[in-house]
Amino acid sequence: MTDLDTNIAKLNGHLERFRTSGIQNLIGGESVDAPSGARFETHSPVDESLICPVARGNAADIDAATEAAKNAFPAWRDMPALERRKILHRIADLIVERAEEIALCECWDTGQALRFMSKAALRGAENFRFFADKAPAARDGQNLQSPTLMNVTTRVPIGPVGVITPWNTPFMLSTWKIAPALAAGCTVVHKPAEFSPLTARILAEIAHEAGLPAGVWNLVNGFGEEAGKRLTEHPDIKAIAFVGESKTGSMIMKQGADTLKRVHFELGGKNPVVVFDDADLDRALDAAIFMIYSLNGERCTSSSRLLIQDSVADAFLAKLTARVNNIRVGHPLDPTTEIGPLIHKVHFDKVTSYFETAKTDGATIAAGGERVGDTGWFVRPTLFTDATNDMTIAQEEIFGPVLTAIRFSDENEALTLANDTQYGLTGYIWTNDLTRALRFTNALEAGMIWVNSENVRHLPTPFGGVKASGIGRDGGDWSFEFYMEQKHVGFATGQHSIPRLGA
Ligand code: NAD
Repeated sequence: MTDLDTNIAKLNGHLERFRTSGIQNLIGGESVDAPSGARFETHSPVDESLICPVARGNAADIDAATEAAKNAFPAWRDMPALERRKILHRIADLIVERAEEIALCECWDTGQALRFMSKAALRGAENFRFFADKAPAARDGQNLQSPTLMNVTTRVPIGPVGVITPWNTPFMLSTWKIAPALAAGCTVVHKPAEFSPLTARILAEIAHEAGLPAGVWNLVNGFGEEAGKRLTEHPDIKAIAFVGESKTGSMIMKQGADTLKRVHFELGGKNPVVVFDDADLDRALDAAIFMIYSLNGERCTSSSRLLIQDSVADAFLAKLTARVNNIRVGHPLDPTTEIGPLIHKVHFDKVTSYFETAKTDGATIAAGGERVGDTGWFVRPTLFTDATNDMTIAQEEIFGPVLTAIRFSDENEALTLANDTQYGLTGYIWTNDLTRALRFTNALEAGMIWVNSENVRHLPTPFGGVKASGIGRDGGDWSFEFYMEQKHVGFATGQHSIPRLGA
């Protein structure tokens, strides 16, 4: 038996219960179907086979989940933080115990390669541990003395919140959003993406197994325009943490306007990796390849535009092309696979449409540009060269294993090109000139920048984008700023004179 056969056998064991009873919602601690009886199907991108039916929640299900979250809020808010910390650590322990099941299900549901997903499951556990340990200090504030008052600030959880997640690395992203909400003392209604519901269900089950009180975490599956929309409009939901496309963020802002919803958006990107001729070009090559072709390129922080200095461009692009042609596309559960299939036919059609666009734009397809096989949504990793920054392939988020390479002559031109996009999520700069790195990072329009590195996430640092890439930050204390309200109380320290009207 090969490793692939073994992994498929294990996966089938884990999927059996979903195949028998489908995926239910979890509301007020109870597993429930949508009262309407409606279901939708989730299919594997590997072979297009049915995985299982899923409860299709609508506005009524969101209302029930919100009611449960509202009722559970006071007790969860008032639970001593040390107890909350214990429960969150237990969730992390159980994630680690079930990491293999989570990784296998995530790969089958999304097409991501196992070599990356086994790490993503453990990262999810780390997210819980990190915020568990921050929970006891979440309410801390400041003491701001004035001549007459002792001014004290404290933070209080904002209330029940909605979390809406996308289909790319759905497990990791859900933990990233939900762990700080719970640590802050908020209760949650989670609406995961309809294309990848498996691990959201496992995660919610784990939370309950870990002793999370009923109603603190509610899961409602369904479509964006039904369940998602109602969640953003519900008056008892105080904030929406959303990860997804920029145009969906814009819609959510409109939907939440009547109830003055607080929003945090992590949206799309068209992130540049800028390689100067003085850089360590071998390391830059490794990083550029990793940041666009790992995770199938379905990654908001992917470096989808390579800006390469003229003087080294020919040699760099030749090596890049050879490496891209060598990337192993295959079954996501095969441990040697580097790229699996794209999530869904709709997304496959979008990504492959850019192969034609590239030709129309006048670019060269130096590698890839075609489907792999005729079952499943596999594409060959693709590299566009001879591109300019005004081309559609340089401006639109393709969200697949597709890199657009553009040449520049000097630093000024590189900066102009890097900033010439509606997005501003991440940037990657490769240079050994420290002064240039400082100048460039100061002027680059991006929320997160790495110099001489791929994206290495450090949990206490702020995560988020500028321009059309997002609103707000999370990570570290920034997550608490979103999920909590600042409260100020002024205590008079003496009998200061109070203006006496009508005396
Ligand atoms: P999407 O915007 O289509 O969907 C995301 C979620 O929003 C899904 O759960 C969907 O059901 C829901 N939704 C859709 N319409 C809605 C509506 N009207 N009201 C409420 N909810 C609605 O995004 P996607 O295709 O699932 O994910 C890919 C996108 O996510 C890419 O653009 C990617 O860059 C972005 N992303 C950003 C980050 C980041 O940190 N900046 C991280 C991951 C993904």
